[in-house]
Amino acid sequence: MGVVMPKLRFPDGDVWEIKKGTLASEVVRRLSERLLKEALCVRVDGVLQDLNAPIETDSDSPLEFYVITERDAEALSVLRHSSSHIMADAVARIFGRDKVKLAIGPSIEEGFYYDFDLPHSLSTDDLPKIEKEMEKIIAENLPFTMERMKKSDAYALFKSLEQTYKLELLDEIEDEMVTVYRHGEFVDLCRGPHIPSTGRLKYFKLLSVAGAYWRGDEKRQMLVRIYGTAFFKKEELDSYLKKLEEAKARDHRVLGKQLDYFSFNPDIGPGLVLWHPKGGMLRHIIENFWKEEHFKRGYQLVYTPHIASEQIYKTSGHLEKYSEFLYAPMEIEGVAYRLKPMNCPGHIAIYKSKKRSYRELPIRYAELGTVYRFERSGVLAGLLRVRGFTQDDAHIFCTQEQLGDEVLSVIRLSDFMMKSFGFKYKIFLATRPEKYIGTDEVWERATNALKEALERFGAQYEIDPGGGVYYGPKIDIKMEDALERLWQGPTIQVDFNLPERFDVNYVSPDGKEKRVVMVHRTVLGSMERFLGVLLEHYGGLLPLWLAPVQAIVLPVKSEQNDYAREIAQQLSDHHLRVLVNERNDTLPAKVRDAELEKIPYILIVGEREKAENLVSVRRKTKGQLGRLSVEELLKIMLEEEREKK
Ligand SMILES: [Zn+2]
Ligand SMILES: [Zn+2]
Repeated sequence: MGVVMPKLRFPDGDVWEIKKGTLASEVVRRLSERLLKEALCVRVDGVLQDLNAPIETDSDSPLEFYVITERDAEALSVLRHSSSHIMADAVARIFGRDKVKLAIGPSIEEGFYYDFDLPHSLSTDDLPKIEKEMEKIIAENLPFTMERMKKSDAYALFKSLEQTYKLELLDEIEDEMVTVYRHGEFVDLCRGPHIPSTGRLKYFKLLSVAGAYWRGDEKRQMLVRIYGTAFFKKEELDSYLKKLEEAKARDHRVLGKQLDYFSFNPDIGPGLVLWHPKGGMLRHIIENFWKEEHFKRGYQLVYTPHIASEQIYKTSGHLEKYSEFLYAPMEIEGVAYRLKPMNCPGHIAIYKSKKRSYRELPIRYAELGTVYRFERSGVLAGLLRVRGFTQDDAHIFCTQEQLGDEVLSVIRLSDFMMKSFGFKYKIFLATRPEKYIGTDEVWERATNALKEALERFGAQYEIDPGGGVYYGPKIDIKMEDALERLWQGPTIQVDFNLPERFDVNYVSPDGKEKRVVMVHRTVLGSMERFLGVLLEHYGGLLPLWLAPVQAIVLPVKSEQNDYAREIAQQLSDHHLRVLVNERNDTLPAKVRDAELEKIPYILIVGEREKAENLVSVRRKTKGQLGRLSVEELLKIMLEEEREKK
């Protein structure tokens, strides 16, 4: 057999023959010197590889050759991953190459990180120093070079460098050959690709320091993780950093504390929310609104217990499929019980408590059901990721023929909810995944039912191919907040699995038992996550109808305390939520407190207001409304509350 000359096919259709082992950069240079300056790496037959690496193939057919520049979607993650090498090198230069043990350094959605084992801890105060060192490495414009070597050689190399984490990673690689990357003195075990040289990184910023367990396993070593980000353009970096600042100002964890809505307590346990009175009031308002809207739409409210015999989760398949999310069993009179991870089995049990006729369908059971799922402490995040949360859950039991109408009405309800709370949203239709149960025909019918419902509703939606759950297709609605971030909101999930497993039927007109169709759905998601997103969306400045305290009356002097209480009472009589601040503070201090608490209406009553039977009204977002009678004030407030704006 002769030596195969690799052939390259370019996007314009040209085919070149090249010598085996030719560097990708040589090929790009022949295309154009200018392109070489812009090139970050290349894509050869769908695989990204370095400019500095040779093109190898044993195949006779031409390889698709494409030059990646910063205009390509893949470019940013290559830049960011390369940045993680540069950062790791900087850390090694500062703290001593022999003292810094390298773990892993991937690019992530908004940047990159690297995990280190360091002789001492780090804080954000250390970041400027590391950034400065990175600038030096960038100025040196060191080329990234790749070396393909035998795994045993790589093992010897990293052993001599005492990089023990790399040895563990090597142990898990099955290939005989691995790639090792260097720039300057920095060596890393990596698949690549990288930018051609360190000088190609221009706009970056280190963002934060966190602890992270090696391999995400809390039984292993705690490592130091440094997060950073990088962009090709300064404007992009600047606007990202600005967005981060805005997000920080809206962080629901900070707001939750400042507004006294909720807290976490290490003695209670991580990921378990304590709702304080004001947060409790906010939940109450939302839950009442939610219930009323469900009653209007033919839902029935049910309650199911927080623990249940393990048997039911065997039948449902949760024990088998989701065991990692379930808490350990507790034994009660010799029977294993579990904390409830999902509400569905309870609702099915209610449905099955008697024989159901087609005349009763659809049946819609709604429950604000609190469920418990295990999450590693490392991934818990305020209200957004918790260990116990309340789903605004409902299950619809219907016939195949009713499915379309039912889905349509859930889409309408979701739309109504999103609009009521001031969210824009995006809809995704998640279709059949690779692994699934049920026949193709049933899947197609259900997917079409979802599609038709979306089209009847007249909504734009995107297909999320293969994004469905193994037991049925679903509609995901992502709510968009004020910073244009998308959050998981309503979901509508068709299920072929549980009706089979639990043998859930109805008696059809011909007297025969037929399998029911089941829909799981939430229209907010979970109360915890929804409230977290809501707080960030409004930056804590909730619309009047949601504000736990809608108005506060501030007497200028204690002589006006009685009058202040009178005003408050008149507003309370109309179900407005009002407080009086009778503390012995100065008026400016009381106003400042009220503003910090983000109370929508500040009502000031002094001697003159009392004499004329008026209140001075200040609306948080609108400024001074002047001196009004209680009747005028009531009219304004009640109308604003009704409009939900
Ligand atoms: Zn790398
Ligand atoms: Zn369910």
